[in-house]
Amino acid sequence: MSDCIFCKIVKEEVPCSKVYEDDLVLAFLDINPVNKGHVLVISKGHYETILDIPDDVLKELILVVKKVSKAVKEGMNVRGFNVTMNNYKEAGQLVPHAHFHIIPRNGDDGLKAWPSGVYSDGEIDGVLNKIRDKLVV
Ligand code: AMP
Ligand code: ZN
Repeated sequence: MSDCIFCKIVKEEVPCSKVYEDDLVLAFLDINPVNKGHVLVISKGHYETILDIPDDVLKELILVVKKVSKAVKEGMNVRGFNVTMNNYKEAGQLVPHAHFHIIPRNGDDGLKAWPSGVYSDGEIDGVLNKIRDKLVV
């Protein structure tokens, strides 16, 4: 995708602070970090969301996420980290080139987790069925 900022980073038309690179995968520092040391992990190929990434590429991506997460945790000397991904703009995806966020976390960083909701009586079974009915394994 010629107008995709992450494709431009892959092609070295836009600079990045590169953490890791192999044939399929690139990891670099997020330019506007949630916390310092926030890393993005992308496939070099352009796929919009996790649902578009071929399984063989996704397997490589998640293994890199694991390796880089360990380096972030140890290198940034934090006790925890979040691995997260926004898929589609409704979920907050701003760059339509699929990417995992690795966000270093300390307990005192002031970030709040998502709110937790509740199910009404019996509602959980209906929700469960809606998802199970669509599950392809
Ligand atoms: P998302 O909302 O999940 O699509 O996140 C996109 C992320 O890309 C944001 O956290 C941005 O700070 C980050 N970002 C955008 N442009 C660049 C860039 N040129 N280099 C590094 N990170 C970027
Ligand atoms: Zn792209």
